Amino acid sequence: MAKRRGTINSDIANQLREYALDFIENEPLSEHTTLCLGGNADFFVKVKTYEELKNLLAVIKRNNAPYFIIGGGSNLLFGDEGFRGIVLKLNGEFEKISIFGNIVTVGAAANLGSVIKQSAEQSLHGFEHFIGIPGTIGGAVFGNAGLENSWIGSFVDTVETMDFNGNIQKYAANDINFSYRSCGLKNCVITKAVFILKNGDKNDILKTVSADIEKRIFSQPLGTKNAGCVFKNPEGQNAGYLIDILGFKGFGIGGIKVSEIHANFLINTGSGTASEMIELIETIKEKVREKFKLELETEIKIIK
Ligand SMILES: Cc1cc2nc3c(=O)[nH]c(=O)nc-3n(C[C@H](O)[C@H](O)[C@H](O)COP(=O)(O)OP(=O)(O)OC[C@H]3O[C@@H](n4cnc5c(N)ncnc54)[C@H](O)[C@@H]3O)c2cc1C
Repeated sequence: MAKRRGTINSDIANQLREYALDFIENEPLSEHTTLCLGGNADFFVKVKTYEELKNLLAVIKRNNAPYFIIGGGSNLLFGDEGFRGIVLKLNGEFEKISIFGNIVTVGAAANLGSVIKQSAEQSLHGFEHFIGIPGTIGGAVFGNAGLENSWIGSFVDTVETMDFNGNIQKYAANDINFSYRSCGLKNCVITKAVFILKNGDKNDILKTVSADIEKRIFSQPLGTKNAGCVFKNPEGQNAGYLIDILGFKGFGIGGIKVSEIHANFLINTGSGTASEMIELIETIKEKVREKFKLELETEIKIIK
């Protein structure tokens, strides 16, 4: 007879306890995403060391448990019903940043902004235009974060991952299929990345950082609950522009509205729900399809 969810979850809880893993049951995902949306995760596990990660991945594999790896939660929309399974978040040992010469070695849980600032302080150039992209190195590598003409994958030397047998793999940049908002790595946890940057002039780099922060202040609804650009840009087009000319700026469904500043940003005004966000996404997609015969694809990851 198939086991009931309650029994499966109590088995998982016991195994997490046996390994002395740091976990919370029924954790609200709204507290871990920049949109501040999402119901509860059955298990939210914080992993500080490689040993803990290996043990957690063994629990996931043994129980065939659904899992999700969360970084800074800045590109995610979890459903209101939450996540039936294990949400895994790296911290501790995975937050380390070390710089030797122009080689920057970073744990997957390190904050991208901190990596940019430390690289700039060491007169290393390459990352400065990424300032203002929230989240972690793991999330940035996984989604090949970046701008129109520059993305993080182009600075990668190697990416280290752990698979569900606890094996560490190292991928050279050439073996990774970086593309628009994807790195192609699947069924593994990114644990570390090594980047090669160029030597530059510290003042110029810091000036670029400040100028790019200013640009974001004027062009994005900073300080609101959002997940950045919701839609990918269709080939040769700008999703924000298309949404804007359809008159969506300021339009809302329930507590979710289209930003007045940047039409590709949907904001949770505070009382929004994930269902309202999905409804607004579908409404925009439908109008774009009808008017421009284009199929918008979401850049944010929707997990429901
Ligand atoms: C105000 C704002 C501005 C933004 N501007 C930009 C921008 O200019 N360019 C841009 O590209 N993005 C932008 N974003 C989107 C987002 O910040 C990036 O996609 C960011 O890189 C996501 O990182 P994260 O750590 O928050 O990942 P999360 O949102 O937590 O996760 C994103 C994906 O990465 C996976 N993941 C995370 N960590 C790991 C890991 N260790 N191993 C395997 N998979 C992992 C997750 O499972 C998920 O599928 C913006 C977001 C906001 C809120």
